[in-house]
Amino acid sequence: MGKLFVVGIGPGDPAMMTGQARAALDEAGVLCGYDTYVGLIRDMYPGKQIHTTPMRREPERCRAALEMAAAGKTVALVCGGDAGVYGMAAPVLELAEAYPAADIEVIPGVTAALAGAAALGAPLGHDFCVISLSDLLTPWDMIQRRLRAAAAGDFVLCLYNPASSRRPDHLRRACDVLLDAGKSPDTACGWVRNIGRAGETRRILPLAALREEAVDMFTTVFVGSRATFVQGDRLITPRGYGL
Ligand code: SAH
Repeated sequence: MGKLFVVGIGPGDPAMMTGQARAALDEAGVLCGYDTYVGLIRDMYPGKQIHTTPMRREPERCRAALEMAAAGKTVALVCGGDAGVYGMAAPVLELAEAYPAADIEVIPGVTAALAGAAALGAPLGHDFCVISLSDLLTPWDMIQRRLRAAAAGDFVLCLYNPASSRRPDHLRRACDVLLDAGKSPDTACGWVRNIGRAGETRRILPLAALREEAVDMFTTVFVGSRATFVQGDRLITPRGYGL
């Protein structure tokens, strides 16, 4: 029986990788995944077989990894952040029944929401939800409904995939949905770009200004709840102790 580790390697900096993820990479004979993520770790493993595929070919990449594991190899399929958060753990497990000879283990990682929150302060100190603004696999109408529901529930929002070159205005459109759903233009917000990578940058700003912000696909965005506030250069959502 071969082994397939589906590994979340964290946001970038190897110091943000868990010991369990590192042990899985050490054990694997083959490292596979999207070029960028494999690129973050390939220097650590010069001797290993590398199998990269371009972006947006996820099912193909999952099948290739499952096939190698079913053939008896020990394979690590590498994802940025956490493997289960908009990553490859779900498609691998959906396809797994066809590969009974592959033993699959999902290894968690530090997702962008958590690493980005730490860079900004403590915006996720109370209930929050994560929404991806990518409409490649989810209709925009559904994304809008979830944004409205999050606003109605006064959750802190963490937005993944806030923009790309093909959809530069998704963050602005999302902000408009939130404002229309009753969130205040003064809501404390922030974003972090290139978390744990060279050129990490961050900004704290109100929702009205976030609407005008040019962000890219390497950015994670935070929109506060009614309780979220700015203290110095930190974004805080209080636990509720009344401190
Ligand atoms: N599995 C990944 C998420 C993949 S979706 C995870 O758990 O983090 C891709 C989106 O994640 C990006 O558009 C961005 O919003 C966010 N993201 C992932 N890595 C990031 C990083 N190093 N810095 C900032 N945002 C990141």
